[in-house]
Amino acid sequence: MTDPIPLFSADYFEAREKFLSAAAARGCATTSHLNPYAKGPAGEALFTDVAVIGPDDAAAALLMISGTHGVEGYAGSGAQIGWLRSERSDTWPRDVKIVVIHALNPYGFAWNRRVTEDNVDLNRNFVDHGSGDYPDNPGYEELKHAIAPADLKPETLKAADDTLRAYSKKHGAFALQEAISKGQYAHPGGMYFGGAREQWSAGLFRFIVRRELSRAGRVGVVDFHTGLGPYGYGELISEDAADAPAYLRARAWWGDTVRSTQAGDSVSAQVLGSVDSSVPGLLPRAQVTMAALEYGTYSTREIFQALRADNWLHAMGNPLGPEAKAIKTDIRCAFYPDKDDWKEMVWQRAEAVLTQAVQGLTRP
Ligand SMILES: [Zn+2]
Repeated sequence: MTDPIPLFSADYFEAREKFLSAAAARGCATTSHLNPYAKGPAGEALFTDVAVIGPDDAAAALLMISGTHGVEGYAGSGAQIGWLRSERSDTWPRDVKIVVIHALNPYGFAWNRRVTEDNVDLNRNFVDHGSGDYPDNPGYEELKHAIAPADLKPETLKAADDTLRAYSKKHGAFALQEAISKGQYAHPGGMYFGGAREQWSAGLFRFIVRRELSRAGRVGVVDFHTGLGPYGYGELISEDAADAPAYLRARAWWGDTVRSTQAGDSVSAQVLGSVDSSVPGLLPRAQVTMAALEYGTYSTREIFQALRADNWLHAMGNPLGPEAKAIKTDIRCAFYPDKDDWKEMVWQRAEAVLTQAVQGLTRP
């Protein structure tokens, strides 16, 4: 049995080392992609690493993604390393191709941020940047000063919280979550900014998916996230409508724990421009079945406060200054409860979900 605790890492750099050595031990071919636009906190080079195993002409392939949201990568990295190290993986069918993307957003992972080097939420970035016609978000517009305040003084934060509370009272808690998190394209220094151009990580993702998965007729995708839902619980989130074939396949693979953002029964708001939503368009010949595996950590309020402080730190403060330490401790903890029970739950659920995915892919 795999001991879950050593699968997890203290930071991006340790995670990367563990991933590369586990991939080598399993016999994967690995490719490292240097992010030319970003460096780590001590000036380190940052990479997205891709490990591949299985036949190139496989009819079925499984893609695992970690670190779409940078700091959420601790869990996904642990799960990927767990799969690479697990003896149970030896029993997997040899004719399935496995593609593992480690730290899709390495800047965010290394800096303990959810966003990319351009302050962009990668999971809102897969929209058409050519037209300049971005989706609007009137709720964010109304609340922008409360979501991204000019400073973190107690009186400023109190006024901001009062504004958010009043909005929630008037429109409901889920409407508030939606206004904050569904994405916005008007405020580059704000939160959940979808970007004004394709991010390096997004271009790389498109390249990897086309290169590694174009020949497969059936593709499964598990994209690891954290920060929504009950502590340690992994919700499978589908972005497909409840009557869509892709959603029905996801339910057939993973059972009734699959939730749909379109049906409104998920912990997540319905978002535009996500990584996962881009996959069917990149693989027009494949039948794609996918879910985000979203692990709960702490309350939505705690997550939001940690993100708001981190956003301020990078937009208006000094990420290497004296105020950074407490803010960085909070955001890391918000997305990565560094606790044994949490790590155990993450690995157990990941192993079950990945096993079910490969069974679904190979079922006659
Ligand atoms: Zn996420």
